[in-house]
Amino acid sequence: MVEEQIASRGVRDSRVLDAMKAVHRERFLPPDQVAYAYHDRALPVGQGQTISQPYIVALMTELLRIEASHRVLEIGTGTGYQTAVLAMLAEHVHTVERLDVLSAAAQHRLGALGHDNVSYRIGDGSVGWAEAAPFDRIIVTAAAPTISTELTDQLAEGGRLVIPVGDAETQRLTVVERHDGKTVERPSIAVRFVKLIGESGFPS
Ligand code: SAH
Repeated sequence: MVEEQIASRGVRDSRVLDAMKAVHRERFLPPDQVAYAYHDRALPVGQGQTISQPYIVALMTELLRIEASHRVLEIGTGTGYQTAVLAMLAEHVHTVERLDVLSAAAQHRLGALGHDNVSYRIGDGSVGWAEAAPFDRIIVTAAAPTISTELTDQLAEGGRLVIPVGDAETQRLTVVERHDGKTVERPSIAVRFVKLIGESGFPS
């Protein structure tokens, strides 16, 4: 999977590729989806939500350029698959999920896999996690209508945010960098995520 779906499409960061190899996607799937674990697409995981396509997980992680000393905020824990990849690379991951059933399952899985550098919150992550800010890196794994100032304000100086921005059908993966209190946006590829629902997201 890592060679055929990820490296071949241009993800070259060896730390990211190693993390993708170390995190086994089948461990994050409901039983009826395990047979498709290494298929090249997002898969349904219940509650109307999906686990991301492996290539998108790898690309977003590469775009973040995580260093071992970094504190990372993830919005949209989902199954915890992306969380596990982040936890392999960063010092600490704070992750927020609005659906308690998904967060509970992710906490159980990540605990069983030994990822002890993760803090969890159940609630609306569209406004970030102000009490734990600032973060070196922020990743949003649900489709956002706009880049909210709540999130960019929680970025440390020199920090980076990777977020899919657009409407409910398609979004543009966007990299936002914060320098001298100002933000610079750079577009990446078109993607399709489930909606970010909340105060700075879409209405439910
Ligand atoms: N990264 C996940 C996939 C996430 S799918 C994985 O690898 O499995 C998007 C997730 O974002 C869903 O679980 C959805 O419930 C969650 N979500 C949507 N709006 C949210 C919000 N405002 N705050 C936190 N989580 C949210």
